[in-house]
Amino acid sequence: MSDCIFCKIIAGEIPSTKRYEDDDVIAFNDLNPQAPIHFLVVPKLHIPCAKDITAENSAYVAKCFEVIAKLTKGFDTGFRVINNCGEDAGQSVKHLHFHVLAGRRLGEKLCAEI
Ligand code: 5GP
Ligand code: ZN
Repeated sequence: MSDCIFCKIIAGEIPSTKRYEDDDVIAFNDLNPQAPIHFLVVPKLHIPCAKDITAENSAYVAKCFEVIAKLTKGFDTGFRVINNCGEDAGQSVKHLHFHVLAGRRLGEKLCAEI
């Protein structure tokens, strides 16, 4: 997708602070961190949103979670994984990604009303 920021990061056209990369998945620090540790785990295939996951592409999602397990080794006090899909969830980049947040107590609420 030529106008997708994350496809551009994957292609190396936009710089990022990478934490991990293989043939199928990339992980890099979020530009606007919401916790001391905040990175994004992103399939290299352009899947727009969680509602677009199918039997054909779900292996990428499984691989994302394998990478999350690798990158959170040693996060002994826990971490949170978040996916936003669509307008109500505030998804701003239309390329499937999983936020990983850690490094402080994250609070009990999964969502705040606005
Ligand atoms: P969403 O709101 O779609 O769930 O999350 C998109 C995330 O991507 C946001 O947390 C935002 O800070 C991050 N982001 C947007 N543009 C860039 C960028 O160019 N580089 C990096 N590293 N993160 C970005
Ligand atoms: Zn993309």
